[in-house]
Amino acid sequence: MSLLAYDLQLSNVYKTYDNGTPAVIDFNIDVVKGEFIAFLGPSGCGKSTTLRMISGFETVTSGDLMIRGKRVNDQLPEKRPTSMIFQNYALFPHMNVRQNVRFGLEVKKMPRAQADRKVDEILEKLGLGDIAEMATSRLSGGQRQRIALARSLVVEPDILLLDEPLGALDANLRKSIQNELKLLQRDLGITFVFVTHAQSEALALSDRIVVMNAGRVEQISPPRELYTRPSSLFVARFIGSNTILPGTVREGQDGIVTLDTAFGRLAGANLAGIDAHKDRNMSIVLPAEAVDLVPADVSERQMQAEFGANAIPCTIETLQIVGHIMHMVVRLKDDKTIKVEGHVDKFRDRLKAGGSAFVAWKSGSATVIDG
Ligand code: ADP
Repeated sequence: MSLLAYDLQLSNVYKTYDNGTPAVIDFNIDVVKGEFIAFLGPSGCGKSTTLRMISGFETVTSGDLMIRGKRVNDQLPEKRPTSMIFQNYALFPHMNVRQNVRFGLEVKKMPRAQADRKVDEILEKLGLGDIAEMATSRLSGGQRQRIALARSLVVEPDILLLDEPLGALDANLRKSIQNELKLLQRDLGITFVFVTHAQSEALALSDRIVVMNAGRVEQISPPRELYTRPSSLFVARFIGSNTILPGTVREGQDGIVTLDTAFGRLAGANLAGIDAHKDRNMSIVLPAEAVDLVPADVSERQMQAEFGANAIPCTIETLQIVGHIMHMVVRLKDDKTIKVEGHVDKFRDRLKAGGSAFVAWKSGSATVIDG
């Protein structure tokens, strides 16, 4: 792919603040036009610093920052084809909605008539036409969020940067604005880079998620892959919805590694190609959707044929049927609980609350990671 096909590239980007804090360590990513990228990670991991480097509000200590194939490390923020939305929206209280939105075009000295046309267009697109003359201080959180969006988009950036833009909204509003944001991004086809510490938000919105930890990139993956195939213990724990079974390597063959664990000899796929030498400490990550629940009365031969040795005894703690889906919570002997769900027809009459069963999986659908 030619360089110009990328909207944004970070190559070996580092940031160390003047006080010596290493905030971003060797960040690498190539973003294609129209991608929705989320930076996800706990507070202080370097998400905002990276976003501010892209916008130009923060300098890059070393490495290359490229926008549409051009190195922009030394370019002023206002010269970059980026626009930024902050968590508190930073609207001007003394200006009405229209004036707030027009502000960026005035800075660019766009002729009045042309600016008015563009402002009207974007106000219309975001459903703000009716409140264009109102003071922003009198508007709701959702409306203020939309005005901030309109103000950033009216300058027609190549890349929109969003720093926890939904953080100030309540849960319901957050959900509906999430949907709007996604539709708008698809419609406009521009690249969005979004900072959040909320997994659900990143999973719902993004094409790819960059998980950061203490300044470093842990993994860059599409949402689904992030929880079915985490590449480190940090990501597996941060994303949450999976079971982690620690052990030591017994043997590794053909990309499948077998570990000795507290639950016996269990296996998963070694997708990262880790050197799985004997006795190395590793863990099996079992995503919820890879888990099958097998009634205790199934024959050993059948179990072996389908799942190999990957079967752990459990007791069914709760069992609830919603429509055609059975939701269960099962408990392992170490008191770990796992949520499992499946079609009712598959389990009806064979699995009962309080009864025993096996948590089982095919080796290829679990992943082994280091640690
Ligand atoms: P996040 O956005 O993931 O919460 P930040 O990028 O804000 O993380 O911060 C990353 C690290 O850099 C933290 O250790 C933070 O304390 C430090 N940091 C952020 N801004 C500054 C600054 N202006 N001066 C010095 N250190 C900073």
